Amino acid sequence: MNIALVTGASSGFGQAICCKLIADGYKVIGVARRTDKLQKISDELGSNFLPLSLDVTKKDAVESILLQLPKEFQPIDILINNAGLALGLEPAYQADYNDWETMIETNIIGLVHLTHQILPGMVERNFGYIINLGSVAGSYAYKGGNVYGASKAFVKQFSANLRTDLLGKKIRVTNIEPGLCGGTEFSNVRFHGNNEQAAEVYKGVDYITPEDIANTVSWLVNTPTHFNVNSIEIMPVAQA
Ligand code: NDP
Repeated sequence: MNIALVTGASSGFGQAICCKLIADGYKVIGVARRTDKLQKISDELGSNFLPLSLDVTKKDAVESILLQLPKEFQPIDILINNAGLALGLEPAYQADYNDWETMIETNIIGLVHLTHQILPGMVERNFGYIINLGSVAGSYAYKGGNVYGASKAFVKQFSANLRTDLLGKKIRVTNIEPGLCGGTEFSNVRFHGNNEQAAEVYKGVDYITPEDIANTVSWLVNTPTHFNVNSIEIMPVAQA
């Protein structure tokens, strides 16, 4: 049975991806910081789900926890680098530096930590799949997108460069670039818990759902191993 590790598993896309992959027959390790949320999800998903309380920005913790995984959740064949966030998104000249730092540490450094730790094992076995959650914000400029968009541009280019290093090996890398998605905590996090401001973003928009993303991931991981989707841009019809 294939084993997947999904970061950002306590809500939104990550939670939906864990549910879908478990339904597809995979064993799934779900990573996030909030233990209570992970435990609730674990209670629903059963013994094929391993909740792992971990802050992806902490390199030493990532290394030691992954080295101590129970045997039945090794080796990791599928890595879904999904943990990420946008904060503030004011114009650059009004931005809070701490917001910038948190986005860089989570969206870039965290993703790099997991990849650096897990990729060598995939190469050794010549088998694996890495799916990164980028964003259309990494390809198109928009007001206030400054550091968030740049962090997702990193994810896009890192994915492309990984593919180059892995040329000819049976290890696939896909960058998923969603547009406006609702039903996640993304907007609440962005506005530092201001629910009214968060809801305003989705008014009147038939947005993409976490299940749409989970179904996409499920399709990708179940394609034949000679077949790689380099990137996939997913937009609601209401967004150009
Ligand atoms: P959510 O806020 O619902 O989920 C984010 C997840 O990341 C949470 O489970 C959170 O868990 C986890 N996380 C955040 N920081 C850390 C950390 N330091 N260590 C471990 N886990 C962490 O957002 P979405 O599901 O909407 O977003 C998922 C991904 O998709 C992100 O990378 C986002 O940038 C990207 N994306 C989202 C879009 C959208 O419109 N929603 C559009 C395009 C891309 P916890 O707090 O428990 O640690």
